[in-house]
Amino acid sequence: MVAQFLDSAAKGDVVRVSSMTSHSDILINESDERGWTALMLGARNGHFDVVKNLLEKGCDRSSVNKSGQTALDIAKFWGHKHIATLLTNKIGDRPVFLPGAAEEHENYFCRTFLNRMSEKRTHSEWLKAKQLHSTTVYILFSSLSPLVTSSRDKDQSSKPDVRLCRFGREAVEELLGKPEAILIFLGIEMQKTNVGSLKESVLNGEDGLIAWFALNVDDIPVAKFKLKYPDCCLIQAPMPGLLQLTEEEAGVVAQARSVLAWHSRYSFCPTCGSGTKVGEGGYKRSCLKEDCKSLQGIHNTSYPRVGETIEDAVRREVDEESGVKVSHVQYVSCQPWPMPSSLMIGCLTVAVSTEIKVDENEIEEARWFTRQQVAEALGKNSQQPFSVPPRQAIAHQLIKHWVGLNANL
Ligand SMILES: [Zn+2]
Repeated sequence: MVAQFLDSAAKGDVVRVSSMTSHSDILINESDERGWTALMLGARNGHFDVVKNLLEKGCDRSSVNKSGQTALDIAKFWGHKHIATLLTNKIGDRPVFLPGAAEEHENYFCRTFLNRMSEKRTHSEWLKAKQLHSTTVYILFSSLSPLVTSSRDKDQSSKPDVRLCRFGREAVEELLGKPEAILIFLGIEMQKTNVGSLKESVLNGEDGLIAWFALNVDDIPVAKFKLKYPDCCLIQAPMPGLLQLTEEEAGVVAQARSVLAWHSRYSFCPTCGSGTKVGEGGYKRSCLKEDCKSLQGIHNTSYPRVGETIEDAVRREVDEESGVKVSHVQYVSCQPWPMPSSLMIGCLTVAVSTEIKVDENEIEEARWFTRQQVAEALGKNSQQPFSVPPRQAIAHQLIKHWVGLNANL
Protein backbone atom coordinates (compact mmCIF):
# COMPACT_ATOMS: atom_id res chain seq x y z
CA MET A 1 0.00 0.00 0.00
CA VAL A 2 2.79 2.47 0.97
CA ALA A 3 4.80 1.48 -2.09
CA GLN A 4 1.77 2.07 -4.36
CA PHE A 5 1.11 5.42 -2.75
CA LEU A 6 4.71 6.57 -3.14
CA ASP A 7 4.77 5.32 -6.69
CA SER A 8 1.64 7.32 -7.54
CA ALA A 9 3.23 10.47 -6.08
CA ALA A 10 6.44 9.87 -8.06
CA LYS A 11 4.43 9.44 -11.28
CA GLY A 12 2.30 12.51 -10.66
CA ASP A 13 -1.01 10.64 -10.38
CA VAL A 14 -2.76 13.26 -8.26
CA VAL A 15 -6.17 11.54 -8.48
CA ARG A 16 -4.79 8.33 -7.01
CA VAL A 17 -2.70 10.17 -4.37
CA SER A 18 -5.74 12.12 -3.30
CA SER A 19 -8.06 9.11 -3.11
CA MET A 20 -5.50 7.00 -1.21
CA THR A 21 -4.96 9.68 1.46
CA SER A 22 -8.75 10.06 1.80
CA HIS A 23 -9.01 6.38 2.69
CA SER A 24 -6.02 6.26 4.99
CA ASP A 25 -4.68 9.46 6.48
CA ILE A 26 -1.62 7.82 8.05
CA LEU A 27 -0.28 7.18 4.54
CA ILE A 28 0.48 10.83 3.93
CA ASN A 29 3.79 10.97 5.85
CA GLU A 30 4.95 7.42 5.12
CA SER A 31 8.38 6.99 3.55
CA ASP A 32 10.42 4.40 1.70
CA GLU A 33 13.65 2.82 2.96
CA ARG A 34 15.60 5.95 1.97
CA GLY A 35 13.30 8.13 3.99
CA TRP A 36 11.61 9.60 0.88
CA THR A 37 8.01 10.68 1.45
CA ALA A 38 5.34 11.20 -1.22
CA LEU A 39 5.95 14.96 -0.91
CA MET A 40 9.65 14.51 -1.70
CA LEU A 41 8.93 12.25 -4.67
CA GLY A 42 6.39 14.74 -6.01
CA ALA A 43 8.95 17.53 -5.53
CA ARG A 44 11.71 15.48 -7.16
CA ASN A 45 9.68 14.82 -10.29
CA GLY A 46 8.19 18.28 -10.64
CA HIS A 47 4.56 17.30 -9.91
CA PHE A 48 3.10 20.60 -8.71
CA ASP A 49 -0.46 19.23 -8.27
CA VAL A 50 0.71 16.32 -6.15
CA VAL A 51 2.76 18.59 -3.87
CA LYS A 52 -0.13 21.07 -3.57
CA ASN A 53 -2.62 18.32 -2.78
CA LEU A 54 -0.37 16.78 -0.12
CA LEU A 55 0.27 20.16 1.52
CA GLU A 56 -3.45 20.95 1.56
CA LYS A 57 -4.04 17.68 3.38
CA GLY A 58 -1.55 18.63 6.10
CA CYS A 59 1.49 16.68 4.95
CA ASP A 60 4.62 17.28 7.07
CA ARG A 61 6.86 19.45 4.89
CA SER A 62 9.76 19.34 7.38
CA SER A 63 10.46 15.57 7.12
CA VAL A 64 13.99 14.77 6.05
CA ASN A 65 15.22 11.75 4.14
CA LYS A 66 18.33 9.74 4.97
CA SER A 67 20.49 12.25 3.12
CA GLY A 68 19.18 15.02 5.37
CA GLN A 69 17.10 16.69 2.63
CA THR A 70 13.62 18.13 2.93
CA ALA A 71 11.16 18.23 0.03
CA LEU A 72 12.17 21.89 -0.36
CA ASP A 73 15.86 20.98 -0.74
CA ILE A 74 14.90 18.41 -3.37
CA ALA A 75 12.68 20.82 -5.34
CA LYS A 76 15.45 23.42 -5.35
CA PHE A 77 18.11 20.92 -6.36
CA TRP A 78 16.12 19.70 -9.34
CA GLY A 79 15.28 23.24 -10.40
CA HIS A 80 11.50 23.07 -9.79
CA LYS A 81 11.22 26.68 -8.66
CA HIS A 82 7.41 26.85 -8.64
CA ILE A 83 7.32 23.84 -6.30
CA ALA A 84 10.07 25.31 -4.10
CA THR A 85 7.97 28.47 -3.79
CA LEU A 86 4.96 26.41 -2.77
CA LEU A 87 7.04 24.60 -0.15
CA THR A 88 8.57 27.73 1.36
CA ASN A 89 5.18 28.72 2.68
CA LYS A 90 5.08 31.90 0.70
CA ILE A 91 1.95 33.77 -0.19
CA GLY A 92 2.62 35.48 -3.47
CA ASP A 93 6.27 36.43 -3.55
CA ARG A 94 6.76 37.17 0.11
CA PRO A 95 5.82 35.48 3.36
CA VAL A 96 2.99 37.13 5.22
CA PHE A 97 5.02 37.12 8.45
CA LEU A 98 7.77 39.25 6.98
CA PRO A 99 6.23 42.42 5.57
CA GLY A 100 8.53 44.22 3.21
CA ALA A 101 10.74 41.19 2.58
CA ALA A 102 12.19 41.07 -0.90
CA GLU A 103 12.13 37.97 -3.05
CA GLU A 104 15.34 36.05 -2.40
CA HIS A 105 17.63 36.16 -5.38
CA GLU A 106 20.08 33.39 -6.17
CA ASN A 107 23.43 34.83 -7.24
CA TYR A 108 26.35 33.10 -8.93
CA PHE A 109 28.42 31.01 -6.44
CA CYS A 110 25.23 30.40 -4.37
CA ARG A 111 24.02 27.14 -5.86
CA THR A 112 25.56 23.75 -5.09
CA PHE A 113 24.72 20.08 -5.50
CA LEU A 114 26.43 19.11 -2.26
CA ASN A 115 24.94 18.85 1.20
CA ARG A 116 27.80 20.08 3.40
CA MET A 117 26.93 17.67 6.23
CA SER A 118 29.01 19.76 8.64
CA GLU A 119 28.09 17.42 11.49
CA LYS A 120 30.36 14.81 9.85
CA ARG A 121 33.44 17.04 10.17
CA THR A 122 34.14 15.76 13.68
CA HIS A 123 33.58 12.09 12.77
CA SER A 124 37.15 11.22 11.89
CA GLU A 125 36.46 7.50 11.37
CA TRP A 126 33.64 8.26 8.92
CA LEU A 127 35.83 10.76 7.07
CA LYS A 128 38.71 8.26 6.87
CA ALA A 129 36.42 5.56 5.49
CA LYS A 130 34.99 7.98 2.91
CA GLN A 131 38.47 9.06 1.79
CA LEU A 132 39.18 5.44 0.86
CA HIS A 133 35.78 4.64 -0.63
CA SER A 134 35.52 3.75 -4.31
CA THR A 135 32.64 6.18 -5.01
CA THR A 136 34.33 9.20 -3.39
CA VAL A 137 35.10 12.15 -5.67
CA TYR A 138 38.23 14.30 -5.41
CA ILE A 139 38.64 17.66 -7.11
CA LEU A 140 42.11 19.15 -7.41
CA PHE A 141 43.53 22.61 -6.88
CA SER A 142 47.05 23.75 -7.63
CA SER A 143 47.93 26.85 -5.61
CA LEU A 144 44.17 27.57 -5.39
CA SER A 145 43.49 27.11 -9.15
CA PRO A 146 41.01 24.30 -9.89
CA LEU A 147 41.86 21.63 -12.45
CA VAL A 148 39.17 21.71 -15.16
CA THR A 149 38.45 20.51 -18.65
CA SER A 150 37.75 23.21 -21.16
CA SER A 151 36.27 22.17 -24.47
CA ARG A 152 34.78 24.13 -27.35
CA ASP A 153 32.63 23.19 -30.30
CA LYS A 154 34.59 22.45 -33.48
CA ASP A 155 33.95 25.88 -34.99
CA GLN A 156 35.38 27.51 -31.81
CA SER A 157 32.56 30.03 -31.88
CA SER A 158 30.76 29.15 -28.67
CA LYS A 159 31.97 29.76 -25.14
CA PRO A 160 34.11 26.93 -23.77
CA ASP A 161 32.36 24.29 -21.69
CA VAL A 162 34.35 24.39 -18.43
CA ARG A 163 33.91 21.51 -15.97
CA LEU A 164 35.74 20.34 -12.87
CA CYS A 165 37.91 17.24 -13.33
CA ARG A 166 36.70 14.52 -10.95
CA PHE A 167 39.01 11.80 -9.69
CA GLY A 168 38.93 8.69 -7.52
CA ARG A 169 41.29 7.98 -4.65
CA GLU A 170 43.88 6.13 -6.73
CA ALA A 171 44.55 9.06 -9.04
CA VAL A 172 45.31 11.44 -6.16
CA GLU A 173 47.17 9.06 -3.80
CA GLU A 174 50.58 10.48 -4.64
CA LEU A 175 49.46 14.10 -4.21
CA LEU A 176 47.93 13.31 -0.80
CA GLY A 177 51.40 12.33 0.40
CA LYS A 178 52.88 15.78 -0.36
CA PRO A 179 53.81 17.69 2.80
CA GLU A 180 51.86 20.82 1.82
CA ALA A 181 48.70 18.92 0.77
CA ILE A 182 45.47 20.24 2.30
CA LEU A 183 42.35 18.10 2.11
CA ILE A 184 38.86 19.54 2.69
CA PHE A 185 35.64 17.56 3.11
CA LEU A 186 33.09 19.36 0.92
CA GLY A 187 29.95 17.33 1.64
CA ILE A 188 27.90 14.58 0.06
CA GLU A 189 26.03 14.55 -3.22
CA MET A 190 22.37 15.28 -2.79
CA GLN A 191 20.85 11.94 -3.57
CA LYS A 192 19.56 11.01 -6.94
CA THR A 193 16.86 8.37 -7.12
CA ASN A 194 19.15 5.46 -7.72
CA VAL A 195 17.41 2.97 -5.48
CA GLY A 196 19.19 -0.15 -6.71
CA SER A 197 22.76 0.83 -5.90
CA LEU A 198 21.72 2.41 -2.62
CA LYS A 199 20.00 -0.78 -1.48
CA GLU A 200 23.15 -2.70 -2.23
CA SER A 201 25.41 -0.35 -0.30
CA VAL A 202 23.05 -0.19 2.69
CA LEU A 203 23.10 -3.99 2.75
CA ASN A 204 26.90 -3.86 2.85
CA GLY A 205 26.69 -1.84 6.04
CA GLU A 206 27.44 1.48 4.38
CA ASP A 207 25.39 4.63 4.15
CA GLY A 208 25.56 4.88 0.35
CA LEU A 209 26.47 8.56 0.50
CA ILE A 210 28.87 9.89 -2.14
CA ALA A 211 31.45 12.14 -0.48
CA TRP A 212 33.40 14.94 -2.13
CA PHE A 213 36.84 16.24 -1.13
CA ALA A 214 38.99 19.10 -2.41
CA LEU A 215 42.74 18.64 -2.45
CA ASN A 216 45.20 21.49 -2.86
CA VAL A 217 48.94 21.15 -3.49
CA ASP A 218 51.50 23.72 -4.66
CA ASP A 219 52.14 22.28 -8.08
CA ILE A 220 49.98 19.70 -9.87
CA PRO A 221 51.63 17.59 -12.61
CA VAL A 222 48.88 18.50 -15.11
CA ALA A 223 50.38 16.30 -17.87
CA LYS A 224 49.76 13.21 -15.75
CA PHE A 225 46.04 13.88 -15.62
CA LYS A 226 45.78 14.29 -19.41
CA LEU A 227 45.45 10.49 -19.64
CA LYS A 228 41.95 10.75 -18.17
CA TYR A 229 41.12 14.31 -19.29
CA PRO A 230 43.09 15.10 -22.50
CA ASP A 231 42.11 18.79 -22.51
CA CYS A 232 42.51 19.47 -18.79
CA CYS A 233 44.13 22.65 -17.54
CA LEU A 234 44.27 24.91 -14.50
CA ILE A 235 42.09 28.01 -14.36
CA GLN A 236 44.84 30.57 -14.21
CA ALA A 237 43.44 33.96 -13.23
CA PRO A 238 40.60 33.43 -10.74
CA MET A 239 38.88 36.49 -12.23
CA PRO A 240 37.31 36.11 -14.70
CA GLY A 241 38.37 32.43 -14.98
CA LEU A 242 36.10 31.13 -12.23
CA LEU A 243 33.08 32.81 -13.80
CA GLN A 244 33.17 30.27 -16.64
CA LEU A 245 32.06 27.39 -14.40
CA THR A 246 28.49 26.09 -14.44
CA GLU A 247 26.23 27.48 -11.68
CA GLU A 248 26.32 24.18 -9.75
CA GLU A 249 30.09 23.69 -9.92
CA ALA A 250 30.71 27.36 -9.11
CA GLY A 251 29.09 26.82 -5.70
CA VAL A 252 31.35 23.84 -4.99
CA VAL A 253 34.44 25.81 -6.03
CA ALA A 254 33.35 28.80 -3.92
CA GLN A 255 33.23 26.62 -0.84
CA ALA A 256 36.47 24.74 -1.55
CA ARG A 257 38.52 27.74 -2.63
CA SER A 258 37.43 29.90 0.32
CA VAL A 259 38.60 27.29 2.81
CA LEU A 260 41.81 26.52 0.90
CA ALA A 261 42.65 30.23 0.64
CA TRP A 262 42.15 30.55 4.39
CA HIS A 263 44.63 27.69 4.96
CA SER A 264 47.15 29.32 2.64
CA ARG A 265 47.13 32.48 4.77
CA TYR A 266 46.84 31.03 8.27
CA SER A 267 49.55 28.40 8.61
CA PHE A 268 50.67 29.71 11.99
CA CYS A 269 48.85 30.41 15.24
CA PRO A 270 47.67 34.03 15.23
CA THR A 271 48.17 34.20 19.02
CA CYS A 272 51.67 32.80 19.57
CA GLY A 273 53.10 32.14 16.12
CA SER A 274 53.59 28.39 16.64
CA GLY A 275 52.74 25.84 13.99
CA THR A 276 49.13 24.63 13.72
CA LYS A 277 47.46 21.36 12.81
CA VAL A 278 44.44 20.89 10.56
CA GLY A 279 41.36 19.15 11.94
CA GLU A 280 37.61 18.66 11.49
CA GLY A 281 37.63 17.71 7.84
CA GLY A 282 39.77 20.75 6.98
CA TYR A 283 37.60 23.37 8.75
CA LYS A 284 39.71 23.98 11.82
CA ARG A 285 43.32 24.82 12.65
CA SER A 286 44.50 24.58 16.22
CA CYS A 287 47.76 25.59 17.84
CA LEU A 288 50.40 22.95 18.50
CA LYS A 289 51.75 24.75 21.62
CA GLU A 290 50.09 23.15 24.64
CA ASP A 291 49.75 26.23 26.85
CA CYS A 292 48.78 28.65 24.07
CA LYS A 293 46.08 31.16 25.06
CA SER A 294 44.20 30.45 21.83
CA LEU A 295 43.32 27.00 23.21
CA GLN A 296 41.36 28.47 26.12
CA GLY A 297 37.78 29.66 26.36
CA ILE A 298 35.14 29.54 23.69
CA HIS A 299 37.42 31.00 21.00
CA ASN A 300 39.69 28.00 21.32
CA THR A 301 40.10 27.44 17.64
CA SER A 302 40.27 29.25 14.42
CA TYR A 303 37.65 28.56 11.79
CA PRO A 304 37.37 29.87 8.25
CA ARG A 305 34.37 31.73 6.90
CA VAL A 306 33.36 29.65 3.93
CA GLY A 307 31.46 30.66 0.80
CA GLU A 308 27.86 30.83 2.01
CA THR A 309 25.10 33.42 1.79
CA ILE A 310 23.65 35.05 4.92
CA GLU A 311 20.31 33.40 4.14
CA ASP A 312 21.81 29.92 3.86
CA ALA A 313 23.89 30.47 7.00
CA VAL A 314 20.72 31.39 8.95
CA ARG A 315 18.86 28.31 7.68
CA ARG A 316 21.80 26.02 8.43
CA GLU A 317 22.57 27.44 11.88
CA VAL A 318 18.96 27.38 13.08
CA ASP A 319 18.62 23.79 11.86
CA GLU A 320 21.93 22.63 13.35
CA GLU A 321 21.39 24.24 16.75
CA SER A 322 17.63 23.87 17.31
CA GLY A 323 16.47 21.31 14.74
CA VAL A 324 13.87 23.79 13.44
CA LYS A 325 13.58 24.17 9.67
CA VAL A 326 13.18 27.73 8.45
CA SER A 327 12.46 29.12 5.00
CA HIS A 328 12.43 32.78 3.99
CA VAL A 329 15.12 34.93 5.67
CA GLN A 330 14.93 38.69 6.07
CA TYR A 331 17.97 40.77 7.01
CA VAL A 332 17.17 43.38 9.66
CA SER A 333 20.38 45.01 10.92
CA CYS A 334 23.93 44.31 11.99
CA GLN A 335 26.21 45.21 14.89
CA PRO A 336 30.00 45.31 15.28
CA TRP A 337 30.77 43.12 18.31
CA PRO A 338 34.27 43.60 19.69
CA MET A 339 34.41 40.38 21.77
CA PRO A 340 36.87 39.78 20.14
CA SER A 341 36.06 41.12 16.67
CA SER A 342 32.86 40.00 15.01
CA LEU A 343 30.01 41.36 12.99
CA MET A 344 26.64 40.24 14.34
CA ILE A 345 24.01 39.86 11.63
CA GLY A 346 20.38 40.05 12.74
CA CYS A 347 17.70 38.36 10.63
CA LEU A 348 14.08 37.30 10.94
CA THR A 349 12.92 34.04 9.44
CA VAL A 350 9.80 31.90 9.16
CA ALA A 351 9.75 28.39 10.67
CA VAL A 352 8.26 25.61 8.57
CA SER A 353 8.58 23.00 11.34
CA THR A 354 7.99 23.17 15.09
CA GLU A 355 9.84 20.23 16.62
CA ILE A 356 12.88 21.33 18.64
CA LYS A 357 16.05 19.28 18.95
CA VAL A 358 18.77 21.23 20.76
CA ASP A 359 22.47 20.76 20.02
CA GLU A 360 23.73 21.12 23.58
CA ASN A 361 27.28 21.81 22.44
CA GLU A 362 26.04 25.02 20.86
CA ILE A 363 23.10 26.32 22.88
CA GLU A 364 21.58 25.61 26.30
CA GLU A 365 17.90 25.71 25.47
CA ALA A 366 15.40 26.50 22.74
CA ARG A 367 11.64 26.94 23.29
CA TRP A 368 8.65 28.49 21.57
CA PHE A 369 6.98 31.58 23.04
CA THR A 370 3.80 33.39 22.12
CA ARG A 371 3.90 36.95 20.95
CA GLN A 372 2.21 37.95 24.20
CA GLN A 373 4.92 36.29 26.31
CA VAL A 374 7.65 38.00 24.31
CA ALA A 375 5.99 41.40 24.67
CA GLU A 376 5.67 40.87 28.42
CA ALA A 377 9.29 39.81 28.77
CA LEU A 378 10.32 42.98 26.93
CA GLY A 379 8.11 45.11 29.16
CA LYS A 380 9.35 43.38 32.30
CA ASN A 381 5.97 43.99 33.89
CA SER A 382 5.17 40.49 35.10
CA GLN A 383 6.76 37.14 35.85
CA GLN A 384 8.35 36.41 32.54
CA PRO A 385 9.02 32.93 31.16
CA PHE A 386 12.42 34.14 29.94
CA SER A 387 14.66 37.19 30.18
CA VAL A 388 15.47 39.36 27.21
CA PRO A 389 19.15 40.19 26.54
CA PRO A 390 20.20 43.78 27.47
CA ARG A 391 19.23 46.56 25.06
CA GLN A 392 22.86 46.90 23.90
CA ALA A 393 22.68 43.44 22.31
CA ILE A 394 21.32 43.04 18.78
CA ALA A 395 19.19 40.14 20.06
CA HIS A 396 17.20 42.63 22.17
CA GLN A 397 16.70 44.96 19.22
CA LEU A 398 15.65 42.09 16.96
CA ILE A 399 13.05 40.90 19.46
CA LYS A 400 11.74 44.44 19.82
CA HIS A 401 11.59 44.84 16.06
CA TRP A 402 9.62 41.61 15.71
CA VAL A 403 7.13 42.51 18.45
CA GLY A 404 6.65 45.87 16.75
CA LEU A 405 5.79 44.37 13.37
CA ASN A 406 2.16 44.86 12.52
CA ALA A 407 1.51 41.25 11.60
CA ASN A 408 -1.65 39.28 12.31
CA LEU A 409 -0.09 36.49 14.31
ZN1 LIG B 1 49.33 29.39 19.69
